[in-house]
Amino acid sequence: MDDDKVCPFWADALRRSPLRPDRRYAEHTVSKNLEPIAPWEAAANSATRQVTQAVRAGIECDDTTGCVVPPLHLTSTFAFRAFGEKRTYDYTRSGNPTRDLLAGALAELEQGSGAVVTASGMAAITVVGYLVPAGARIIVPHDCYGGTYRLFNAWHRRGERQVEFIDFGDEAALAEALSRPAALVWIETPSNPLLRVTDIAAVAKLGHACGALVVVDNTFLSPAWQQPLTLGADLVVHSTTKYLNGHSDVVGGAVVAREPALHEQLVWWANCLGLTGAPFDSFLTLRGLRTLHARLEHHGRNAGALAHWLDRQPNVRRVWYPGLESHPGHELARRQQRGFGAVVTLELEGGHDAVREFVAGLECFSLAESLGGVESLIAHPATMTHAAMDPAARQRAGLVDGLIRLSIGIEALEDLREDLTRALQRAASVLAAPVLRQAAAAG
Ligand code: PLP
Repeated sequence: MDDDKVCPFWADALRRSPLRPDRRYAEHTVSKNLEPIAPWEAAANSATRQVTQAVRAGIECDDTTGCVVPPLHLTSTFAFRAFGEKRTYDYTRSGNPTRDLLAGALAELEQGSGAVVTASGMAAITVVGYLVPAGARIIVPHDCYGGTYRLFNAWHRRGERQVEFIDFGDEAALAEALSRPAALVWIETPSNPLLRVTDIAAVAKLGHACGALVVVDNTFLSPAWQQPLTLGADLVVHSTTKYLNGHSDVVGGAVVAREPALHEQLVWWANCLGLTGAPFDSFLTLRGLRTLHARLEHHGRNAGALAHWLDRQPNVRRVWYPGLESHPGHELARRQQRGFGAVVTLELEGGHDAVREFVAGLECFSLAESLGGVESLIAHPATMTHAAMDPAARQRAGLVDGLIRLSIGIEALEDLREDLTRALQRAASVLAAPVLRQAAAAG
């Protein structure tokens, strides 16, 4: 399927883009490059171009009025020119110019050949699930996002897919699972909420050798910090609800394909299942996307500083953040990512009771599901994001009661640190004095 059929509005916008003559966009549209990306220092060049791509996506592309910001096409249907003469678009479920602009922008940022924009991240995952035949064998990490686990587990229980949940941190178990034919390998890296880092290039190689499509959920980093297609993945999934939109006012998703043939199938299934995203949501997400790199710079700086600081606090048992040298995935994250992310997970001394006091002591963090918005959020995976997992599966995934996940926003760092200090003092009140002394000595 050629570009003009998939996203005509976007293709047209590219043709007229002021950046077009020096080919900054052109070299990024379709990538056949499966080499691992350079370390982030060396990748600065590509990141710089990406910043401009994100800011200028679709800018000044409408000749009708010359509006600088692309218009929002709020229409469910499009008039035929005449009997039997369909225009480019006919019905918004199957295609909409505003949604296509967002899809084109995401495809460019991920270096894919095309994208579909869906109504949610879960809708994106569902569309991918339909690329494989009924009964297909699928390999999924045992500690994936709770909603992903619920969907794959439901398919498995109904006999619709043969899903195996594997500990991707256990090399032998993973190699064994990938030594037999499979249709799909699901990677989530860094994973939610323990930020386990998976070697995308290595797993993609194993996945391809057993005949599978390799999919990466890139929600936690966004293409600004990680580009899985350049590492050998076939598809990238996003909950655009998170960093891509970045303002916690849209629920949306996307799938980006490396090859046009896969993109064509995604377009077909998204329309067939009715999972495509609303134009208004696409408009907002495209607006959010323009500030992606500026936001992430701030998110990353705050998260790094707070992770290091939290790691030194006496009543914090452990901190998970790929930017910490103690994190098992630290070296891999340095090689594979351009940033360490802005989610910090920690375990408090004192379990459930300490979490309750900690949450009650916070003012700058809202207790809410989700992540990736400009405002800081706190979630308790065991009772919130991962409640869909049965207790045994949660335990296997290491989601203990004292675990909390912080989505670090872009507020002033000092305000966030002061807030956490107060909350930690309050959480410490549930600990008996000897436990505190012990924790302080160990820290
Ligand atoms: N993937 C990951 C890693 C997530 O964290 C989430 C939601 O939190 C999803 C997918 C699902 O996205 P949505 O809530 O937009 O359906």
